[in-house]
Amino acid sequence: MNTDSRIRRGLRSSRSSAWRFALPSAALCLIGVAQGCDGSGDAMGVGGSGSPSGGGSAEGGSDSGAPVDPEEGTRAVGVSISAIEVNQAVGIRLVDGGRPVPVSERRAPIIAGRPGLFRVSVETAEGHRVRELEGRLTLTRSDGTTKVLTDRRLVVRASSDADLGTQFHWHFDETAIEEGTTFAVGIFETSDEAPAGASSGSRYPESGSAAFDEWADRLELKVVLVPVETGCGSKLLVSDEALEGNRKYIFDAFPLQKLTITYREAWRKIEGCPSGVGEIAAEALAARIEDDAPDDVLYAALSGPGSFAEGGALGQAFGTVGSAPYSGNGAGPDGVGAIIVHELGHNLGRPHPWEEDESYPYDDEGGYVGWGYRRSTRMLVPSDGRHDVMSYTYPTWMSEYTYRKCAEFLKDHPPSGL
Ligand SMILES: [Zn+2]
Repeated sequence: MNTDSRIRRGLRSSRSSAWRFALPSAALCLIGVAQGCDGSGDAMGVGGSGSPSGGGSAEGGSDSGAPVDPEEGTRAVGVSISAIEVNQAVGIRLVDGGRPVPVSERRAPIIAGRPGLFRVSVETAEGHRVRELEGRLTLTRSDGTTKVLTDRRLVVRASSDADLGTQFHWHFDETAIEEGTTFAVGIFETSDEAPAGASSGSRYPESGSAAFDEWADRLELKVVLVPVETGCGSKLLVSDEALEGNRKYIFDAFPLQKLTITYREAWRKIEGCPSGVGEIAAEALAARIEDDAPDDVLYAALSGPGSFAEGGALGQAFGTVGSAPYSGNGAGPDGVGAIIVHELGHNLGRPHPWEEDESYPYDDEGGYVGWGYRRSTRMLVPSDGRHDVMSYTYPTWMSEYTYRKCAEFLKDHPPSGL
């Protein structure tokens, strides 16, 4: 089915759809005025933990039950959409410099069934009059149901990438983008006293809706953390809180729809002080064999700080896929989460920046430029001064390249038990 027939069907059927709902303007944010509009809160969201079909409780909002006509009212005058980005760990521009970005030029895929951030930048015409405007994001599912999300902001000036408060944006949950979901964005006046002028560029696409061109493959990761006790260093801290911290970091970074992560109940033990990280890594492998784990379950060993002779590490994670062990250690500002992500990156076939990958686009320190996003904190990861997770240079985050490569690996290695 093409997009046009889908949207037409959507508009027709939406009035009776339980999925369709409008959000109240409770989270009005003022551009240029700090009011918790920096992205740390859910100004407007989709779904939350509730199911949209079950009434649509929204993150930071609620289901008003009143249908919103996405096209009702006056389109914004002198304000045009300059950029649209979907960010599910790495920023993917759908519109840049006011122009659509072809799918072939995207450096990473949009993943269906994964939460993220949808943000819209605007340009303002000369002599712009500061006023409140409403951004409307219309999502249309392949079954024709639609959802309209609104975000009201005082538009003072053109948007800045670094400041979510200057962008119309929505933190969305895993139900927002499904296979075949399409979108449209419009900026509208909120009062009858709109200035005179043209409203061109205030809707994207100009008519109908646009495809996300998402990947709909199942991308899952199952991880077992194997605590290893050694004769030196301090004991590894094992807690639900630590596990949850790791879970969030790994899920935030990788192109996943689902992550299952558990501690292995039985600890492995090394008498005396291991000579190096390899000895600890071998324990993950030994545990894996002992448990007769399925192929798609990754085992990562964890040991406490200073747990081996060369010691002094804050956190260590060692993963195995089949019989291939990788090891690493280090102390980063993000703690053990960043290290586990690095080791799991190896498990998903990623080498270090300086190794065996001729298409690697960054330098040996993995320096890259691009906005990241952490779902668990609802915060942007700064676009510069970051280094790819596969590098040894901190601070690290998932680069677009590594994200894409991990997604390709996971696509080629679907979860077992289907
Ligand atoms: Zn490494």
